[in-house]
Amino acid sequence: LIEILPVPAYQGLSPSFFLVLFHDRTAERRVERMRTDFVANASHELRTPLASLSGFIETLQGPARDDPKARDRFLGIMREQATRMSRLIDDLLSLSRIEMRRHLQPQARVDLVSVIRQVHSQLTPLADELGLELAFAAPGEAMLVAGDEDEITQVFSNLIENACKYGANGGRVEISIRRASERGEEVIDASVRDFGPGIPAEHVPRLTERFYRVDAGDSRSKRGTGLGLSIVRNILLRHKSRLIVDSVVGQGSTFTARFPAISANVAKIPASTET
Ligand code: ADP
Repeated sequence: LIEILPVPAYQGLSPSFFLVLFHDRTAERRVERMRTDFVANASHELRTPLASLSGFIETLQGPARDDPKARDRFLGIMREQATRMSRLIDDLLSLSRIEMRRHLQPQARVDLVSVIRQVHSQLTPLADELGLELAFAAPGEAMLVAGDEDEITQVFSNLIENACKYGANGGRVEISIRRASERGEEVIDASVRDFGPGIPAEHVPRLTERFYRVDAGDSRSKRGTGLGLSIVRNILLRHKSRLIVDSVVGQGSTFTARFPAISANVAKIPASTET
């Protein structure tokens, strides 16, 4: 946008000048574009199972009315589509809730070891079903970070579930936590490693975009919404933390959540302290 403003003659100096202002709207336009893309994607993702539901309802009211076998099969598919829609709505709501609180950094004291232990036991049945060994080498000490326990739980549920779903043919998923340092600051790395197909390098920078999938068909068949890693990224941002992805095609992927460690003094704050 270019704005041209006449400047009145100053102290008898004439002729008058014109002030030309350039406004760079690139960033504004990008945000606007992202918003409209998001609404379009979300509508499309919701419309697909809805269209399938309508189609089956019509079939059940018409040609399949007197065919009990077809009816049972169609009702099963309809149930799956309804579950898919509600999963999508849950993820959309999660994402918007987290984005609304983006600028508030949660401050409760959270032990990553106990959070991961809990997620590990919740997801062990899924791993068993997929024929995977889900290994957690828990360190002998608490690994404290400042945060929101429910959100951190959501991070590891997503990462571990992805490792199980997409890395199932690797036979094993390993979860580990260790202290490290980054630019002189102490950090805690919690990693989820799978030995599945890995992710081609060109996809890695886009994984946390909303609705981005490496293989849409594969993701849908694995009950993915394409929002999981976007939720992970937003939660980690709110925790002044980040996601690091290492992946080698044919060897597997490691997703690491890197948190700033809290100092011994902060660690003494009672667990109920939250802002
Ligand atoms: P989804 O709900 O589709 O799983 P995510 O945001 O969690 O969405 O992940 C985005 C995409 O990244 C997935 O669709 C999948 O293609 C890819 N992906 C995520 N985790 C892994 C993994 N451990 N191994 C291979 N691909 C993965």
